[in-house]
Amino acid sequence: MKTGSSLIGLLLVMLIGALIYLQMGPMVPQVATPGNPALGGGSPVDQAWAATCLANKAGIQTAVQMYNISHPPMKDLDMNSLGGGVRLPDPKGGCQCKYSLSANGNVVCSFHK
Ligand SMILES: [Zn+2]
Repeated sequence: MKTGSSLIGLLLVMLIGALIYLQMGPMVPQVATPGNPALGGGSPVDQAWAATCLANKAGIQTAVQMYNISHPPMKDLDMNSLGGGVRLPDPKGGCQCKYSLSANGNVVCSFHK
């Protein structure tokens, strides 16, 4: 008898849950998403700049590695030595990124950290 009453209890809980679900209606996806944490959150424009920054860092990193193959390892980022392969957005367009090399040779952005 114990098993039967707990089964009825379980069914009752499921019924209540279904009623609550129907009361709430279908789940509506959030229109204003809180921003992608991988890109630092913020407004869509901020996230676009963060994504651009990530792409720029990867491009500069590749260029530095290419440079280091045939030169002594670059200590301070010198964009002129990297040749024309890396094109950065014009700061007049609102880009606040300032790139440099960290102690272990990684490209870092002082604005996006
Ligand atoms: Zn940046």
